[in-house]
Amino acid sequence: MRSLMVTLSEAIAHARSQDRSVLTEIESKQVLAAAGIPVAEARLAATADEAAKVAADVGYPVVLKIMSPDVTHKSDVGGVKVGLADEAAVRAAFDEIVAAVTARQPDARIEGVAVQHMARPGTEVIVGMSKDPQFGPVLMFGLGGIFVEVLKDVAFRIVPLQPRDAKQMIDEIKGRAVLDGVRGGEAADVSALADLLLKLSAFVEANPRVEELDLNPVFAYKDGVIAVDARIVIGETP
Ligand code: ADP
Ligand code: MG
Repeated sequence: MRSLMVTLSEAIAHARSQDRSVLTEIESKQVLAAAGIPVAEARLAATADEAAKVAADVGYPVVLKIMSPDVTHKSDVGGVKVGLADEAAVRAAFDEIVAAVTARQPDARIEGVAVQHMARPGTEVIVGMSKDPQFGPVLMFGLGGIFVEVLKDVAFRIVPLQPRDAKQMIDEIKGRAVLDGVRGGEAADVSALADLLLKLSAFVEANPRVEELDLNPVFAYKDGVIAVDARIVIGETP
């Protein structure tokens, strides 16, 4: 198994050798973890046996996701199974994922699955970075699900962010009250969210090859946050 600490340049070199500009979830999370960003660590398993072994290692319940250089939206092709409680469930999920992806995308190269511990539910938020032709890297923050898809309730700031920018960004979304907890739900750790935005800003500033970045979703708890999905897109050599 490759070391869990992977530098961005190593990940880029590997992706380039496969003619990819999108880092896999596993690569993206390794690079972000090395930058101090909290992620649900994901490990590659090429077979059902390996998946069972990794699952025992990371602790049940686990999530399995398709790992293919040809698949970026994993759930769209039946490539994500959550809430797997034991080895039998992991083995079945491995076969189901490979079958579903093969049926929907017969020419997809399948490397295996990413195995990760299933994070407990939290308030779902999304964080992204894209490059504006005039302003350069811009960070986006919003609540997950319908808030972003239907209501487009998101806030933007130009990189680099100051602590005040991170706080304002969080406070200015229309659904801000959701972060205080709704219907008895847990409040979200707003200072951990602000810290995440600042760390991403620093990461993006230090790594101009990063063209696009998505953490979708991030789960926010009363104490801390964790990105359960991550995607980094690499640009042309600057
Ligand atoms: P996609 O490529 O389709 O965006 P995701 O990795 O975001 O795939 O997984 C789909 C959904 O599964 C997420 O929105 C989240 O609700 C859930 N999920 C994924 N990973 C985890 C995890 N480690 N713990 C808990 N839930 C997860
Ligand atoms: Mg996702």
